[in-house]
Amino acid sequence: MSSVADNIARIRSEIGPFVTLVAVSKFKSPEQILEAYYAGHRDFGENRVQELVEKAEKLPKDIRWHMIGHLQTNKVKYIAPFIHLIHSVDSEKLLTEIQKQALKANRTIDILLQVFIADEETKFGLNDTECLHLAQKIYQGHFPNVRLRGLMGMATNTNQTQKIESEFLHLKNLFDQLRTTYPDTQLDTLSMGMSGDYPIALRCGSTMIRVGSAIFGSR
Ligand SMILES: *Cc1c(COP(=O)(O)O)cnc(C)c1O
Repeated sequence: MSSVADNIARIRSEIGPFVTLVAVSKFKSPEQILEAYYAGHRDFGENRVQELVEKAEKLPKDIRWHMIGHLQTNKVKYIAPFIHLIHSVDSEKLLTEIQKQALKANRTIDILLQVFIADEETKFGLNDTECLHLAQKIYQGHFPNVRLRGLMGMATNTNQTQKIESEFLHLKNLFDQLRTTYPDTQLDTLSMGMSGDYPIALRCGSTMIRVGSAIFGSR
């Protein structure tokens, strides 16, 4: 069995220096996270606020924590003081709360808008129109303590490569459209690709992949 450090090294060599690897550590113990940390890894993703906060308290302070799961408005306050990037912004209500808590914490919070690209009912996210509308509101200055860095999406869980590819390309097109509409902004992050589909996501222009089981083993 390969170690956490070996897995990270292998994936890093596949993705090259310009793509960020977020190690998804949900359900994994602080000890397992430290294995990656001591191998030099700093970006970790969690999908539940409570678990994220508990781990952040125990683990080294230079870890960059990514919130990748559905975020409830009433939980934003727990992560606002330290979160590195929120990938899962899927409503104006949530954005409003992030603005409020970021101001309170006296910082700017980096966010991604989560876009629904799959054909599965269970996945959260904005449609294209809602996404463009929220981006417009952000650039009109309604959320001064929020910095939009890009988009996040999850493809359908299928082994049909072409379907996954067309979903990722859809997100890439939307990302490019935003970058064209709003040049001179910090839109530099396209978070797409997980253990099962990150090679496809990379071909489609991903700049950030979120990988759990291929690093830590399956749950
Ligand atoms: C769990 C999770 C991942 C990682 O999934 P793996 O298949 O284990 O790589 C990526 N993104 C989100 C939003 C997740 O919840």
